[in-house]
Amino acid sequence: MRKQIVAGNWKMNNDLSQTGSLIDALKSKTQTSNAEVMVAPTFTNLYHAFEALKTVNIEVVAQNMHFAENGAYTGEISASMLKSVGIQTVILGHSERRAYFNETDELLAKKVDAALANNMRVIFCFGEELADRKSGNEETVVGNQIKNALFHLDASAFKNIVLAYEPVWAIGTGETASPEQAQDMHAFIRKTLSDKYGNEVANTVSILYGGSVKPANAQEIFSKPDVDGGLIGGAALNADDFFAIVNAF
Ligand code: PEP
Repeated sequence: MRKQIVAGNWKMNNDLSQTGSLIDALKSKTQTSNAEVMVAPTFTNLYHAFEALKTVNIEVVAQNMHFAENGAYTGEISASMLKSVGIQTVILGHSERRAYFNETDELLAKKVDAALANNMRVIFCFGEELADRKSGNEETVVGNQIKNALFHLDASAFKNIVLAYEPVWAIGTGETASPEQAQDMHAFIRKTLSDKYGNEVANTVSILYGGSVKPANAQEIFSKPDVDGGLIGGAALNADDFFAIVNAF
């Protein structure tokens, strides 16, 4: 049975006091689904969020990290630094990191290796741009993103990897992939994993969908057989909306 996961990516939103208010609001909600729930605050709020949420079933995860253990990388944060404030899971490869910070598949492969070497779990994001979909290249693009950043790994590494398919054209745009488009791509991703690692890995890796998921569309998207949850941006900043999505399973 694959894990169902709903992760909220708060991006570069919320200072310390706003983070505290959102956490209080989240703690007042009741979870009726079995999904694993995660939230990803900014670096400066990770420790506070970890302390504030450690008594409830909401894991605090990081939005990014550097591949090096330490050293002359001004402004960067390492896996062991994240772990020292309680963080066990990191989002890597978000399309905003790829687009605005030039993160390539090769760089991401190094980050994935560093996270796994530190016994962290990785939520690995990828997805095609609108032009790729319009030209019918979405499967080639997604297949290459997965192969280039992950296919040097052993099968056993995948117990610590969650995949997040996020079509770039659906992130923060209000435009959602249809549940059928999401299912088709998730089935393709699972087949890509199966061709390389076999069915056991393919059938146990959770694949999340991300891109304008909201309370109104979450249930239909999550009802698809290869969709194991969601990575949520905008709607994760509102506790009512986020928990409506968490409870959509
Ligand atoms: C995201 O940034 O990962 C995301 C899915 O954003 P949104 O839900 O706002 O489209």
